[in-house]
Amino acid sequence: MDGGHNIAEQIAAAPSVSFVHDDADRSGDLRCPHCRSTVLRRTSREITPTFRELFYICRNAACGHSFKASLSYEYGLSPSGIPDPALNLPMRPMERMPGETIPAPGALPDPNQLNLF
Ligand SMILES: [Zn+2]
Repeated sequence: MDGGHNIAEQIAAAPSVSFVHDDADRSGDLRCPHCRSTVLRRTSREITPTFRELFYICRNAACGHSFKASLSYEYGLSPSGIPDPALNLPMRPMERMPGETIPAPGALPDPNQLNLF
């Protein structure tokens, strides 16, 4: 072999973690930062319900880069129908709409505003 750099040896040397491989696509659209080849997710583990560690290896045998990444919850887009009361997760920040200006007391009426009477 090539001195301990084959995938089987690297997987054997990976940290002891719980394996979750419940989807067919184990790389998503993530690419190796060095050679831009697609990567393979070897393992992942849940640290908290909103944070997960992921371990990847580059599919390009000439590169062989392996790395740790993370996946974290940022905010909800719509509320859960069965929310966990133990969690207090942020929802998407509201974009501020330009508010209507309140005329100062004693300000002259807007000449472009039609009269009601
Ligand atoms: Zn690579």
